[in-house]
Amino acid sequence: MPKLPIYLDNNATTPTDPRVLDVMLPYFTEKFGNAASRHHAFGWTAEDAVDLAREQAASLIGASPEELIFTSGATESVNMALKGVFEAYRSKGNHIITLATEHSCVLDTCRYIERSGGKVTYLPVQPDGLLNIEMLRAAITAETILISVMYANNETGVIQPMEDIGRIAGEKSIIFHTDATQGAGKIPLNVDTGGIGLLSFSAHKLYGPKGAGALFVRRKNPRVRLTPLIEGGGHEKGLRSGTLNVPGIVGFGKACEVCLTQMEKDGQKLSLLRDKLESGLLEIPGTALNGNTHNRLPHVSNIRFAGLKGDLLMSAMPDLAISSGSACTSASPEPSHVLTAMGLSEEEARSSLRFSLGRFTEETDIDFAVNICRNAIESLRDSTKHS
Ligand SMILES: *Cc1c(COP(=O)(O)O)cnc(C)c1O
Repeated sequence: MPKLPIYLDNNATTPTDPRVLDVMLPYFTEKFGNAASRHHAFGWTAEDAVDLAREQAASLIGASPEELIFTSGATESVNMALKGVFEAYRSKGNHIITLATEHSCVLDTCRYIERSGGKVTYLPVQPDGLLNIEMLRAAITAETILISVMYANNETGVIQPMEDIGRIAGEKSIIFHTDATQGAGKIPLNVDTGGIGLLSFSAHKLYGPKGAGALFVRRKNPRVRLTPLIEGGGHEKGLRSGTLNVPGIVGFGKACEVCLTQMEKDGQKLSLLRDKLESGLLEIPGTALNGNTHNRLPHVSNIRFAGLKGDLLMSAMPDLAISSGSACTSASPEPSHVLTAMGLSEEEARSSLRFSLGRFTEETDIDFAVNICRNAIESLRDSTKHS
């Protein structure tokens, strides 16, 4: 019997790995120094810890440590990347290309940029969630300064063709940003693939603490310039002033290190569990899978339950923690913009649920989850039949 409720919402956030928490704790108490204090041992201790974390986080994405700017998480990194490029490259152009299926932190930042005089193209996706590379090529204009395409989708797990996108961006000397919040730490990922210029990721999606993240900013071939959003003491090369969140950064670094050593093993285990979950759920009449099944993360499954309302189904399953879309947009009653962009009707989108497994998911969790779903669906379908 697994511990209830069963957590299958790891794309919303992951628990902090105990190994990560252990290394963080001293930085709240005896090692509390400010990493910018240059004149005493308290400061040096904190600075050394931040340096190590920067190396660990950079290694995860194949970057060098000087190319990482620590932030409060991916939302901030994305804002910094998009607004920062828009400001810094205004003389070159004002056009940005992104995807209709991006996370709200990209889409909402793009809307802000449009209000500030920018032009944004929101490319549609194919029914399987993948970008059409020819449409990307066709959308480029002389004014295009930035292409922002997510590495892997948070709702479906679909992985975009980074190499192809990067090649096109490189040919046209356009900066390539990727929101890799869901890919980093889960699948092997390297900023040199496709010559990624900017990459956003976040600690709490890879078994680190909430409130820490980073933006990779390429330093050469080509160097990417950014206008800072936050002015202050000149921390983080002047790009992100403010006292560093040392415990959070230490945890972020450790979490990246653990992911790097464990990614392959975790991925193998999770894809088996995910397959087990899917085969169990797809046996239920009227269920179907959303999204491409070849290019996807190992631990995510987005499933449509014909004729049922996802929200009702979830409330019939209090022992199962899953989601009907992104946690960041689930406050709104709109159907998932990701699924409707893939061509699903509003009703189909509303009947879809996301299951996201994680490092601490066990086989018994999956068996239980399938049973919970099966029972809830049967009783919901029975009750609508009789009413
Ligand atoms: C969670 C998530 C974000 C936001 O990350 P925070 O660190 O919570 O700000 C951005 N993009 C994607 C794809 C996400 O899944």
